[in-house]
Amino acid sequence: MSDSINFDNSYLELPGRFYSKLAPTPVAGPGPIRVNRALAEQLDLDAAWLSSEQGTEMLAGNRLPDGAEPIATVYAGHQFGGWVPQLGDGRAILLGEVIGRDGQRYDIQLKGSGPTPYSRGGDGRAPLGPVLREYIVSEAMSALGIPTTRSLAAVTSGEPVYRQAAEPGAVLTRVARSHIRIGTFQYFLARQDIEALRLLVDYVVRRHYPAAAEAEIPAQEMLDAVVTGQARLMAQWQLVGFIHGVMNTDNMLLSGETIDYGPCAFMDHFDPSTVFSSIDRQGRYAYGNQPGTAHWNLARLAQTLLPVMHADEEQALVMAQESLDAFPDRFQQAYRDGMARKLGLNSLQADHDELVSEWLELMARESTDFTLAFRRLADLALPGPGPDVAGLFEFSEAFSPWLERWRQCIEADPQSLAERRGRMYEANPVFIPRNHLVAGAIDAAVSEGDFEPFHRLVDRLEQPHDYDPQQEDFARPPRKDEIVTTTFCGT
Ligand code: AMP
Ligand code: MG
Repeated sequence: MSDSINFDNSYLELPGRFYSKLAPTPVAGPGPIRVNRALAEQLDLDAAWLSSEQGTEMLAGNRLPDGAEPIATVYAGHQFGGWVPQLGDGRAILLGEVIGRDGQRYDIQLKGSGPTPYSRGGDGRAPLGPVLREYIVSEAMSALGIPTTRSLAAVTSGEPVYRQAAEPGAVLTRVARSHIRIGTFQYFLARQDIEALRLLVDYVVRRHYPAAAEAEIPAQEMLDAVVTGQARLMAQWQLVGFIHGVMNTDNMLLSGETIDYGPCAFMDHFDPSTVFSSIDRQGRYAYGNQPGTAHWNLARLAQTLLPVMHADEEQALVMAQESLDAFPDRFQQAYRDGMARKLGLNSLQADHDELVSEWLELMARESTDFTLAFRRLADLALPGPGPDVAGLFEFSEAFSPWLERWRQCIEADPQSLAERRGRMYEANPVFIPRNHLVAGAIDAAVSEGDFEPFHRLVDRLEQPHDYDPQQEDFARPPRKDEIVTTTFCGT
């Protein structure tokens, strides 16, 4: 049993104006909810100790492990397009960094750990519901192969948190490749602190893009790599129907991981204008707007790099513009590659464009379940009745001409039928964190203290591609009375 974590902290090597040193504020009565054993192992942490009473106290912020040098980091950001000159970790504390078994550096952060100098009047706490949502959805994203921050553990605080009403409080332990956001760069540009920007570029290059250090202008190379990472990430979000909900510049990481699971949700029936977030009244961050928003956010990042890239502003602008302009093509390429896999094709040729656009139009017109429609196609890749989700999902008659065309396309595409179906199953999950399931799991925990639905859902979502007819309830779309139309940020 160990009370120490093998921390190897590097962010503290940056000057004091990047963070505030402070410890989490203890809570009244820490209680265990879940420890992510597989992740603990990857990080070389003792899962048994994390699950113990002492471990639970540590995860609640009541006990600092040896070697922790806790800090809250500062940043700024554009929230729904409006500039906020100072944000920062208002309810999160970075305990420190560890090196995982993969040799990568990871931040270990407590979220909901009490007020900090960046709380701006907030209580620094997190209600149980949003903590469970973040745990479920971030781990589901990881199982889907999408870059994301992870959830190492969730604990209850034994204290109420006051929002619209009193709710039980909780603390999430979040793990990330780093927590450096576009907003971290914006904070220093807004203060014309060019030295800090240089240090931050050096740091990000060393930590995430070491190859860029060899480039003539590392900042340009870093920007280019971040653009590529975000283009791919957006393609992955679109291909599974994930809607982030709060794509502010302070919620976009330089590492290319998805972060901040506030009012996020997965789309059930396909509709590009889908919005769930109760705070996104204009639909700024609707499903169909996500790639464009990422591009806009990257332009904010590029602005902060101009003074670092070149002494001559014109020259710097040309460099930054070149990387930014590559975003749409890189997104399209990643999206098309992914769509080809989802449709069972080796690659999308120009003459497949209509096939894709008609498929999406049909789904939108028929309000078709996005996830199950692709899964059903995989069944139909072999002649005869499909063995998979046939009982859960049948296409309407409106799809017949399209299905005929699709069959012709796959027949012309060189793959064996069995191989194609196997690949399509891999590209098309059947279990996603459907909103009504997430809401149900949260509701049981918050109103009845019953965490079983939460555990079952997290377990099920670990294998998103392996359909099990015994677990149909995790795969089926919501019935009318189960549809969740809004999600709350819960801050
Ligand atoms: P978010 O919407 O979660 O990205 O948070 C935006 C900003 O508000 C960040 O600086 C958070 O740290 C801060 N914040 C959110 N909730 C709280 C809270 N309950 N107490 C203090 N700060 C908060
Ligand atoms: Mg945030």
